[in-house]
Amino acid sequence: MTTTPGRIAIVGASAAGFAVANELRDQGYDGTISLIGAEALPPYDRPPLSKRKAIDIDDIALADLGKLEALDLNLCLGQRAVGLDTIDKIVRMADGRAVRWDACVIATGADPIRIPGVDSVLRTMADAHVIQSRLDRAGSVAIIGAGVLGCELASLTVSMNCAVTVIDGLPGPMQNRLGTSVSDRLRRHHEEAGVMFRLGQTVSDVAGNPDQGYRIGLSDGGTVQADAVIAAVGCRPATGWLKDSDVPVNNGVVCDENCRAMPGVFAAGDVANWFNPRFGRHMRVEHRMNATEQGMAVANQLLARGQPFDPIPFFWTDQGDLKLQVHGLVGPDMEIVRLDGESDDKRFVLAYLREGLIEGVLGWNMAQMLRKARPLIGRPRAAIADWAK
Ligand SMILES: Cc1cc2nc3c(=O)[nH]c(=O)nc-3n(C[C@H](O)[C@H](O)[C@H](O)COP(=O)(O)OP(=O)(O)OC[C@H]3O[C@@H](n4cnc5c(N)ncnc54)[C@H](O)[C@@H]3O)c2cc1C
Repeated sequence: MTTTPGRIAIVGASAAGFAVANELRDQGYDGTISLIGAEALPPYDRPPLSKRKAIDIDDIALADLGKLEALDLNLCLGQRAVGLDTIDKIVRMADGRAVRWDACVIATGADPIRIPGVDSVLRTMADAHVIQSRLDRAGSVAIIGAGVLGCELASLTVSMNCAVTVIDGLPGPMQNRLGTSVSDRLRRHHEEAGVMFRLGQTVSDVAGNPDQGYRIGLSDGGTVQADAVIAAVGCRPATGWLKDSDVPVNNGVVCDENCRAMPGVFAAGDVANWFNPRFGRHMRVEHRMNATEQGMAVANQLLARGQPFDPIPFFWTDQGDLKLQVHGLVGPDMEIVRLDGESDDKRFVLAYLREGLIEGVLGWNMAQMLRKARPLIGRPRAAIADWAK
């Protein structure tokens, strides 16, 4: 018989870690929960950081102080875990203390990849404050990376009347995710708003500083000059602190379908590379909704009432007046079939197919119709004809 652990340590106090703690209490768990977070702030939501300016913590906190107190947590904020001992069942902290556990959840998220010479990235509230203060006095900004985050930042900064140049080695924004045709449409969306692109160009060097501005060298020998520069070139799972532990790590913490890495150790959120039985493969998903859902799933595993975690991934991105949403899997090498939309391409829904099977659906300013298309995921191409009737 499985017994419920008396002490649960959750490392990472953000969307996934908070969801574990919250769900445990919601389900009546009355043991000790330690919630350990490197940031000094209480858990907060990251998506608004790239979509709105001048954000206050109270606007994006996942729980107010009253709610946090009611959860009765051993809250260790501003404290970094530096090691996980799975024999003695201890989380080692940077200040030398140890937190003991009977079960441990790794929810340390992801760290932004940095580019030499660029000191601005956007992952935390502190990063957002630095960027905001730079943009307040910048007339021009260069964004390196035309992925989701780079595109959102382009929309945000162009709305602040900055001259914005987005640089990427790929031929189009989000091209490696959405494919060429949608990427072309996305590029048009941003260019109409005034964003400039330098595509198919990698950055060779960056020189300068916030006071004197930056000169960004490109692979074709050209340069971009800007008052501010932000790197938005993706993240790596935050697993460095596990290097001396025996927790399996390979592009994140490797887990089974129950989000379990080894006996008593689980992972959730951006850091988890778990086996999704629905798709028959391991996946690591850097999406906000997944962090909460996986956190809740792990809480139920800890209470021995869990199910294999087999979600259809979902993400959204807001880029100016564009609301793009994706259910399931999409990719540049997939076949795209248009399901619905308007002739001017301001709203549409697409299906993404691999080997005749619908694996994902994308909505461009068409959320309601996208929800109707979602059940197509997992079905063969022939289902589209019935759906359209
Ligand atoms: C600017 C921005 C915009 C986004 N917009 C969207 C969006 O529009 N749509 C969408 O689906 N997703 C979006 N995301 C992604 C979404 O926010 C993440 O998927 C989600 O935050 C993941 O939650 P998490 O708890 O797994 O990890 P994180 O939110 O990264 O939290 C991990 C926490 O663990 C802490 N930590 C790390 N190492 C240690 C350690 N050793 N000891 C203690 N604590 C540690 C970190 O400080 C951090 O607080 C966005 C992300 C960012 C940064």
